[in-house]
Amino acid sequence: MYTVVCRTLAAMLVLLAAAAAHAAPAPPPRLVVVIVVDQMRGDYIARYGYQWTGGLRRLVDGGAWFRRAAYPYLTTVTCVGHATVSTGAFPRTHGIVGNSWFDRETGRSVGCTADPKQTIISYGAPAGGGESPWRLQTATLSDELRTQMPVPARVVTLSLKERTAIMLAGDRADAVTWFNPAAGGFVTSSAYTSAPVPFVAAFTKANPVTADAGKVWTRTLPESQYLHADAGTGEKPAAYWSAEFPHALKAKSEAPDAQFFEAWETSPFSDDYLGRLAIASVDALKLGQGSGTDFLGVSFSALDLVGHDFGPASHEVQDTLVRLDRTLGALLAHLDRGVGAGNYVVAFTADHGAAPIPEQAAAAAIDAGRLDSATVRQATQKALEAAFGPGEYLVRSQYSDLILPPDVLEKLRRDPAAAREVLRAVRAVPGVAAAYFAEDLDSHAAAGDRDARAALLSYYPGRSGDLIVMPKPYWFFVTADGSPQPGSATSHGTMYGYDQQVPIILYGRGIKPGEYARQATPADIAPTLAYLCGVTLAHADGEVLIEALAPTAPSVQRGR
Ligand SMILES: [Zn+2]
Repeated sequence: MYTVVCRTLAAMLVLLAAAAAHAAPAPPPRLVVVIVVDQMRGDYIARYGYQWTGGLRRLVDGGAWFRRAAYPYLTTVTCVGHATVSTGAFPRTHGIVGNSWFDRETGRSVGCTADPKQTIISYGAPAGGGESPWRLQTATLSDELRTQMPVPARVVTLSLKERTAIMLAGDRADAVTWFNPAAGGFVTSSAYTSAPVPFVAAFTKANPVTADAGKVWTRTLPESQYLHADAGTGEKPAAYWSAEFPHALKAKSEAPDAQFFEAWETSPFSDDYLGRLAIASVDALKLGQGSGTDFLGVSFSALDLVGHDFGPASHEVQDTLVRLDRTLGALLAHLDRGVGAGNYVVAFTADHGAAPIPEQAAAAAIDAGRLDSATVRQATQKALEAAFGPGEYLVRSQYSDLILPPDVLEKLRRDPAAAREVLRAVRAVPGVAAAYFAEDLDSHAAAGDRDARAALLSYYPGRSGDLIVMPKPYWFFVTADGSPQPGSATSHGTMYGYDQQVPIILYGRGIKPGEYARQATPADIAPTLAYLCGVTLAHADGEVLIEALAPTAPSVQRGR
């Protein structure tokens, strides 16, 4: 009798345990929102955040804020960062090594999304070119949500730039929308649709960008509430603007023209527009209001354009963030109403940071400057001539990447003394910190060289350079393809803290608010969101940020 009772009890306990183990996991979020703010340095929250009262405030106060988040790789630029956020992989895996790179097959530079097989579908005037994610080597989170969720996710991404909208989306989406000055409005690609998407067409028709013509960008708050100087040393706005507020959105001619569109993109009015288009997308497609999990990706571009021209310590950057705070406040409030507070999850981050303006750093007695790619190419050419005799060695370069012809590389392999001489010559160029042959990166990284490791994470065979050159801290490259860049005040693209460190804030469903001091990278975002949704990423380098998961998340339920 006793044994029977025991056995019955034991059987019941086993059943109970099984029931607990199979307790339904927390349902996935109804909407995954990924917000990327182009060029938002990680320290902007500490520096400027005290003034925020809207959406940025909600994210900082109510989210899981990873204060030590940084990209661990060398090529801290826009297309690379967005591909990392969307795939959870580093460039060595996802293959996006720059905004553009030297294509050895065609012998010219190619944009990261340029695709001659596609055409532009315009919501405005016709525009040339073609874009797609065909060079991206890893599936994105939204592609996985589309294919793995029981109800395929609807996917919408929008931005000012094609590379950001496309990289956030991936292979297929319901609407991938970006701004094209030649079209005088927004466009998409034949990679996603054969005809304009009706709700985007309706919105852009009802809200032409040209309605902002004549608007004036002024400070949102009283002037006394801005840090730093308005016209700081070395600020380089476009010729039609001065370094001081106000900034008018004026055309050169009577009608809105290229100058107006450029000014508009470089102003918070463009962020505001994207915020309203995001809200319209939620309403038009009822994102997050169906039976599945949908995806909304927005990349706000104005801060990058403003930051390049005015630098991180400017009234313009500070004001762009004050206004973005309001734009995001409106978007989150709309999601609360439409999707329901607590039903959606937000991942907030940036694609890269930015260096201070070199003249401002130099004024503070910091060694800083601009490194002309041509001087690095010339030093390489001269060293090759010294080693192998006179000749044209066809040294090409794109930022940190130098490309050498295969026969020259072979000669250098057979002549270690000449190879050392080339490295010595490149390292002697003022502003250069380090130079490595790509095939040696592995051994340097294995020996604990952090810069070589950063370059290795950025390295993709056949796309990256044969010789990798890194500027000193507070220096950056100022030319690409040998053609002078427009005279930006500052830039990014190195492995230094100001370029690598960005915010990561997770907010909403399944997220435990708090400040987290562990190191994290934006490659952790997609794995964490995938985990919350119960889908699997095929080839992620990042990991799940388990500290930020709320107790109702599937992990804890199953662990009980
Ligand atoms: Zn930039």
